[in-house]
Amino acid sequence: MTNQSYKYKHALVIGGSVTGLLTARALSEHFAQVTILERDPVHNVPESRKGQPQTRHLHALLAQGLSIFKEYFPGIEEELVAGGAVSGDMAERMHWYQYGGYRLQFKSGLVNISLSRPFLELTVRQRVLALSNVTLSDSCAVDELVTTSDKTRIIGVRAKRSGAHDAQVFEADLVVDTSGRGSSAAKWLESLGYARPPETQVRSNIGYATREYRRAPQDAKTTRVEMISPTAPREKHGVFIFPVEDNRWIMTAGGYVGAHPPSTEAELLEFVRALPVPDVYNIISKAEPLTDIIPYKYAASLRRHYEKLDRFPEGYLVLGDAMASFNPIYGQGMTSAAMQTRVLKDGLRNNANLQGLWRSHFRQAAKVVDMPWQLTVGEDFRYPETEGVKPPFTDPLNAYVDRVHRATQRDPVVYGQFLRVMNLMAPPTSLMSPRIMRRVLMG
Ligand SMILES: Cc1cc2nc3c(=O)[nH]c(=O)nc-3n(C[C@H](O)[C@H](O)[C@H](O)COP(=O)(O)OP(=O)(O)OC[C@H]3O[C@@H](n4cnc5c(N)ncnc54)[C@H](O)[C@@H]3O)c2cc1C
Repeated sequence: MTNQSYKYKHALVIGGSVTGLLTARALSEHFAQVTILERDPVHNVPESRKGQPQTRHLHALLAQGLSIFKEYFPGIEEELVAGGAVSGDMAERMHWYQYGGYRLQFKSGLVNISLSRPFLELTVRQRVLALSNVTLSDSCAVDELVTTSDKTRIIGVRAKRSGAHDAQVFEADLVVDTSGRGSSAAKWLESLGYARPPETQVRSNIGYATREYRRAPQDAKTTRVEMISPTAPREKHGVFIFPVEDNRWIMTAGGYVGAHPPSTEAELLEFVRALPVPDVYNIISKAEPLTDIIPYKYAASLRRHYEKLDRFPEGYLVLGDAMASFNPIYGQGMTSAAMQTRVLKDGLRNNANLQGLWRSHFRQAAKVVDMPWQLTVGEDFRYPETEGVKPPFTDPLNAYVDRVHRATQRDPVVYGQFLRVMNLMAPPTSLMSPRIMRRVLMG
């Protein structure tokens, strides 16, 4: 693309984690220059930074997310696999226990890839920064939005580089906030005389404990993923272990509604041993640990309803965890973010001059968020301890989904559709089509 063919001059992205990088990729088709401003120092290695501590924990990339990554970065799946990521047919490689049995293992046609979150981010960052019109300014914290004098349009940000005496103004036609769950967008909007977006929270009080292990020689080529999920509300504990690059396993143990996994070695082993099946215990009790046990507490899923605002400044958008952050157990965050960047790309294509982009964008992005939100919150409310406003019909829907879960142990058609829904490739309502319902209820 030549400079003349870009519609706009400059876009700024606040935050250089996965949403920021994918956003920059989407913007790069429409802006002559895209600048990512990231508060942390960023190095050209796989790393978990201070501003995204969750990246030390197991991160699954759903099939819908992988397909968007592949659309944005042709050949990325092969590149990740060449770097040690492990890929394979999802249903074939997942040995997944829940509801008193194992789900089927069969060829589903859905591919998934297991790798560490820092390695995924590094590879995506290298691809994004290889674009001639994208740059990253690290150690650069945004602390204010810059507006026109009537405050109706955002025209840039004020940001301070680490070690610099003064903040610097960066001008832009569009500013996109991808600064994560801790985003200051609501505070900044309020200080400019706009309303904060209404929020919905569902508190399921999740705890994680993560540790990496060396894979034994007999597992060097394994693609298997072991998953033991709790059957709610009776059970609250579960564990996943995935093979990742550099011949490692990453194991994350989790607990719902305050029943958090411990973080000492002996207690964690006992936590995993006490689960209904020994598949993960058999691996970790013999494997060499490579890291400490890293705990993480996740109190609540949080949704900020930007789509409900009547007034919003032009030239500004909010994407990713800054808009919606989900109970991480279902692995939806990066995929929801990727889907939001596709909404942005389409919005930019259909919008003549950025005017009113926020309204159409937030409306469409909210539809993207609805799907993972509905799935997560529905499952969370299986526990009576979960706090928040329970959506209507949650209990009868969950009673039906219980039967879907059980059918995944015997029926590949139902399991295939269940996987498409869990991977955000099909809407949850597709589990209620006459074809699937018949198999679930009569099987
Ligand atoms: C424990 C846990 C496990 C998870 N597991 C999964 C999973 O399995 N699969 C999945 O898809 N998702 C998972 N997620 C969610 C996933 O981590 C996020 O969706 C993903 O990182 C994208 O988030 P983001 O880029 O919007 O925000 P973040 O990753 O939080 O990044 C925000 C970035 O903005 C920067 N920043 C913040 N403020 C400023 C500022 N003022 N100026 C400049 N820069 C700033 C930060 O330094 C950071 O780099 C999990 C989350 C948690 C908590």
